[in-house]
Amino acid sequence: MKEKDVKKIIENIKNISKKLDKTINIMSFCGTHEYTIVSNGIRSLLPKNIRLIPGPGCPVCVTPAYIVDAAIQLALKGITVYTYGDAYKLPGIRWIREKGFPRTLEKAVEKGGKAKPVYSIKEALEKTGKEESVFLAIGFETTIPATGIFLLKNNNSLSFLSAHRATPPIVKFMLETYKQHNIDGIIAPGHVSTITGAKAWEFLPKKYNIPTVVSGFEGIDVMESILYILSMILEEKPKLINQYWRAVRWEGNKKAQEIINEVFTQETAYWRGIGWIPESGYSIKEKYSEKDASKKYEINLPKPFFPLEENLPGCICDQVTLGIKLPTDCPLFMKTCTPISPFGPCMVSIEGSCRIWSQQYKAKTA
Ligand code: SF4
Repeated sequence: MKEKDVKKIIENIKNISKKLDKTINIMSFCGTHEYTIVSNGIRSLLPKNIRLIPGPGCPVCVTPAYIVDAAIQLALKGITVYTYGDAYKLPGIRWIREKGFPRTLEKAVEKGGKAKPVYSIKEALEKTGKEESVFLAIGFETTIPATGIFLLKNNNSLSFLSAHRATPPIVKFMLETYKQHNIDGIIAPGHVSTITGAKAWEFLPKKYNIPTVVSGFEGIDVMESILYILSMILEEKPKLINQYWRAVRWEGNKKAQEIINEVFTQETAYWRGIGWIPESGYSIKEKYSEKDASKKYEINLPKPFFPLEENLPGCICDQVTLGIKLPTDCPLFMKTCTPISPFGPCMVSIEGSCRIWSQQYKAKTA
């Protein structure tokens, strides 16, 4: 897209926002969209009455601490735990209550436990050979098919601890529970929608009258998506628009959906700092229980709706994840919690709001 097109989009956004003459709250679900917004300085290009709220789209940030602790426990027992690099540094909660218990998988290794960060499940399979091992599987719909494929294909001793989460249920939950957000528009996740299809977000305009745009990840994609949302608000015609048409189809990736349905069951699941949300988690079906680490190693996972306290002292990641507070509202932000020495989950992951905002903070203070 040419520079004059970008200028035109900004001009149109400004014209519409003047006509609207009220604060408009747009939530971008996905951490990668928040990264685009921050790295392109998009907030600074918008009129003051357009607020962009970062949403809960960071799968590492919302992974329950009890699952991290279960993985640490396995690592300490000598079962090698593989996971992605950011999850390797993700803190559990047991270390707060039990002196000497490692804070993260990384720290478990320092205490003689067995854990390794990997780029992919394929790498974990290549490394593990015949040894007893577990893959801590974290991610939204984008990464679930890969877990499913490798679970079906592998014949060695790698099993899976599923912390996979479904995205539409958390959006529903937020709209029902946190009405103070007054969300006027939603930028729906692009990567997730390549799997689920744009149709997964149809309920937003239909049930909640919220203009919704499935957006790509370039700065111009997000700007265009904001313009589409503002136009729908002005016309009072909430719809679902697929701006990311170059990658997202209405029906999504059917093959990937078949794999998910073959391997997993959707059920009530816990989101760290947020709570139990119906139909929001993916557990491994009974017929694949020999590949389900929670069954194989008899991990005692909490029952749905059992009250849990997983917030780290002083960390407001739960509220940041829900868009109620901003990273800069946290007294620990860039003081005791930094990208080099992260304290809370939102600073660990590259998709966490605190981690993303730390880049902006560093640039301002450089
Ligand atoms: Fe939690 Fe750190 Fe973010 Fe504060 S800055 S909310 S401690 S992750």
